[in-house]
Formats: sequence, C-alpha cells, structure tokens
Amino acid sequence: MNKLKNKIIIVPIITAIMSLFALIFYTYYLPSTKMEKNYSEFVKDLDSSTVSKVNINDSTKLTVYLKTGEVYMVENPNSPTLKETLLTKGIDVKSSLTAPLEKTIPSTILTISIFSIILISVYSGRVSTSSMTVVEGADVKENNKKSFGFHSMAGNEEAKESVQDIVDFLKNPEKYQKYGARMPKGIILYGEPGTGKTLLAKAVAGEANVPFYAVSGSDFVQMYVGVGAARIRSLFKKAKANGKAVIFIDEIDAIGKRRDGGKASGGSDERDQTLNALLTEMSGFGEQEGIVIMAATNRLDILDPALLRPGRFDRHVEVILPDVNAREKILKLYFKNKPVSDNIDLRNWANKTTYFSGAKLESLVNEAAILAAKDNASNISEIHMDKAFSIVIAGHEKADRSSIREIDRKITAYHESGHAIISLIKLPEEKISKVTIIPTTKGAGGYTLTIPEDSAYKTYSYLRKRIMVLLGGRAAEEIIFGSDNITTGAYSDITHSTSMAKDMISEYGMGKNLGLLKISSLGELANSCGTSVVEECKAMIDELYEETKQILLDNIDRLHSMSLYLLENETLFEEDLAREMSSDKALQS
Ligand code: ADP
Ligand code: ZN
Repeated sequence: MNKLKNKIIIVPIITAIMSLFALIFYTYYLPSTKMEKNYSEFVKDLDSSTVSKVNINDSTKLTVYLKTGEVYMVENPNSPTLKETLLTKGIDVKSSLTAPLEKTIPSTILTISIFSIILISVYSGRVSTSSMTVVEGADVKENNKKSFGFHSMAGNEEAKESVQDIVDFLKNPEKYQKYGARMPKGIILYGEPGTGKTLLAKAVAGEANVPFYAVSGSDFVQMYVGVGAARIRSLFKKAKANGKAVIFIDEIDAIGKRRDGGKASGGSDERDQTLNALLTEMSGFGEQEGIVIMAATNRLDILDPALLRPGRFDRHVEVILPDVNAREKILKLYFKNKPVSDNIDLRNWANKTTYFSGAKLESLVNEAAILAAKDNASNISEIHMDKAFSIVIAGHEKADRSSIREIDRKITAYHESGHAIISLIKLPEEKISKVTIIPTTKGAGGYTLTIPEDSAYKTYSYLRKRIMVLLGGRAAEEIIFGSDNITTGAYSDITHSTSMAKDMISEYGMGKNLGLLKISSLGELANSCGTSVVEECKAMIDELYEETKQILLDNIDRLHSMSLYLLENETLFEEDLAREMSSDKALQS
C-alpha cells in the first residue's frame, strides 16, 4: 500500500518539474531572444511607418513587429489611447492581456501537480501515522478505566502472584523506596502461545491504573537499519512523558534472540541496533520512574543472555497452560455473559480440554456461541459445544463430501480404526472422544480424537505407546490393502512419530547410543552422532511398527467391524465406542 503510494507521488513530481522548466523557458529564455528598445525609438518607428504589428502582451510589455521582419519589445506606456493611435495608423494590434497558452498550460499543470503532491503526502502521512499507533499501541484510554485487571484473566494464579508486587510498586513507589528496594525494570513472561501473557501484562497496567503501551518485536525486523532503534526511543519517550507506564514487548525473541556464534546472518545489524537501543533505554531510567517493561516470548532459552542480566529483564515469570481447575475457571469466565443451557457440564469440558490454552478455550466457547446463533437456539447447549470442540481441534467439516471416492472412504475408515484400536488397547486410560471419516477443511481425511491425561511428565513406555497409536493408521492400511496400496494419509502421523522418536533418543536421554547425552547440547560434536541416532530411531520405529501390525492382526475382526460402522455412520462417538466394546468379545492385546 505504502510502496504504491510512494511510486504514485513520483508522477506529480515529474510533471511539476517539467512544467516549471517550461515556464522558466517561456518567461526568461524566449523573450530574451527578442531585443528591447526604448519607447522613444518605438515612437520613431511609428512615425516612419515601419511598424506592421503590435502585440500588447501584458501591462508591462509590448512586442513590436516591423515591416522589415525585425521584432523587439518595448515598455508598455499603459496609455488608454495607445491602441486607438496604433489602429488609426493602420497597424495590426493584437492584445493578449491574458497570458499566452505556452505559459498557462505549464502553470496549470504545475498547480495541479503541487496539489496532488500535497494530497498524496498528506494521505500517505496519515497511513503511516496510523501504522505508528498500531506499533506503539498507545491505547492509553483503553486502560485508563479500570476495566481491565486480574479479574479479566482466569487461572494462572502463580503468574498473577509473581507480578502482584509490580502492581503495588506502580501504585505506591514510595513504599518500596523507603525500604531501598529495587523493583525489576524488566519482566519476561514466557510460555506457550495463547496462555495469556499479553493479557497478564495488560492486567498489570489495568490494576495499577497506568497507561499500557504494546509493541511487537516482529514489527522491528525487516525494517531499514536504524528505524527499529528510533522506534524504541520514541516509544520510551512517549511512555516517560506519561510518568508511569507498562511497556509490553510481544515476541521479544524477534529482537532479542541469542546471537548464534560465528553465523553472521544478514540483517542482524538492525536487530542488534534495536536490541542495543532497548538496553540503553532500560538502563537510562531509574527505578523510581515507575516504568515497567514486560516482554513475552514462547521460549526463555533462546533469548540473548545480555537481555536477562540483572538490571534488565531479571524477573522471569512462566505463564503455563491451564490445568483442569484453571480450564474450568476460564470456561466459566467466557460463559459468564452468554446464554448457556443448564445442562452444560463445565467440569466435564474442563476435563476434555487437556492441553488447551486460554486462547483455545476462548475460541471453543466462541465457536459454540456462533453455532448456537446460527441455529437460532435459545441458548448454547452441549450439541454446540460438541461441534465447536471438533472445529477447534480439527477444523470445520467439509460440507460437500459427494466427491469423495468410495475407496478413499474405505481407506480412511480402516486407517482411523487402526489408530482407535491401538489406542484402546495400548492406552486405555486415554479416552477416545471421537473417530470420524468426515474430512475437514484443513485437509485431514478423517481423524481420531483422544483425550490425553493431564500429566506433567511422560514416561518412556507412554511415548512408545503413543508412537504405536500414530503408526496404527498406516499399519491398518498395509494389512487391509497391501503394501502396494499404502497412502499419503499417514503423512502427519509419520511426522509426529518421527519427531517423537528423535526426541526420545536425542533429547530425553532415553536411547542407547547417546545414553544420557542431549544432542542439542553437544554443539559441533553432534555432527558425528547423526547417523547412529537415525539408525536407532529407525530401529525403534521398525520394532514398534511390527508390534502395531501384530496387534491389529490379532484384532482383525474388530478392525473390520469398526471400519464398517464408520463407513455406515461416518462418526463414532465415545458412547458408541463403549457400547460396541461391551457387546463384542474382548480385545486381544
Ligand atoms: P499470549 O500473549 O500468551 O500468546 P494472549 O494473552 O494474547 O496470549 O491470549 C490470547 C487470548 O486468549 C486472550 O485474549 C484471551 O481471550 C485468551 N486467554 C488466554 N489465557 C487466558 C486466561 N488465563 N484467562 C482468560 N482468557 C485467556
Ligand atoms: Zn492417521
């Protein structure tokens, strides 16, 4: 947008310059070819009747054409009788008191061009001003009212607790000064996306009733050198002008990433300059000034240590994914102002939404509300929640399914049944909430939704079982359709299982060749272990795949019956699964 405008402005600039040249040419250059004479000489010529034509150009000059072909200019006496005198002498008189065309055209163009230049620059100026406000996010008003605070955020009690003193400090700095306490200038909030880091920073500003300035680190990259640094300075200037403030820098890693040794990457100059400007500004104000900088990142370990030193971002607060209680509170928070059916069991939904971030929970409730509105339902009910859950996890169901070939449906049915059966046998504690062969708009042919247990750690044997569940889809395809007919449907399963195997062996100290060594900490030494790690991963996956196939072969009747059910009904829910299981003979494990 802006670039286009920058180009457009060239057009009026060129026309302005060209018309200016034309004007100068006609005004100064052309007339100077004509010589000037005194009025007395003109009178002499008049008397001797050598004048053939007189052109009254304007109020100052006359152009005189002699019969000999000579042309000269003379002062206009502005006598009211001049024209009459000339005419009676039979002299051709032309009065062009209006400016000649060769002057009016360029001057008109010049005027238009100047106008357009002004218009364009004002307009693009407005555009860039507005993008500045986005960058500097100076939504001061928004936060002046205490509309936003810790109450806007559910769960995350530890994180709130960790910033409580910051709020207190912003409110009564004197109290802390009395004790000679130094407040942290910078706080890093780290944790997975959507866990509420921005929310927390905003809540601090809201609780303390100070302005909130938000920028994103990624706004500073891909800019011209120096611009990022200048923006940092102007941001701090603005915040300081207000006295107290919370400055929030999202995605701080974009400017504060650990500099990888030796690797001179292009464009890092700008990043360094921006980072240095930030550090300079941070050391530039005293603790008493009441400016707190909060920065967010998904990972703490990728940040430049210079950023984390005392006096800089020396407090680190982890913002974690909500646990089951926090999830229930977050759901409650978002249901507060919505019409909800009484039969919605929030505790149950909190249980089902393991590993959901606050943002994902918000979007779950929102999707349910949208579905209820679409249905013109009197309130949001379990049906809407169920649908919304699938949408949030897997994307929208593909509406037009007529084009799916029967054979593809069959492959999908066996593939998903493969996952489901391995999951039932190997991980019975993980509930399967849904198996479906309805493709999603995100591109999956179908999916099996299992609900993992809330647990802080994952065991070696759990990870192996999880890999087997992932391999179950391909294994079923191979068993039923033969190895010549395996499909690309297992693409994402294989992506996941491969990285899980790799992590087990090279990161979690669960392998043989590396033992307790972690490959990412070995630096350049890691190059020599690459092959053995790959071999070990392959051996593990091969072994698990064989075992998976064996389990499916042992339960082939179950595989057929579940696939058949899916082909008929498209979707198998938790309750259907339970019914099927009990009616049938026990699974062979
Ligand atoms: P982050 O900055 O960690 O990526 P955000 O603070 O931008 O996450 O959160 C995105 C959205 O998710 C918020 O606007 C809010 O709607 C919701 N959200 C996240 N965590 C919570 C929480 N603990 N309580 C309430 N809402 C939350
Ligand atoms: Zn699969």
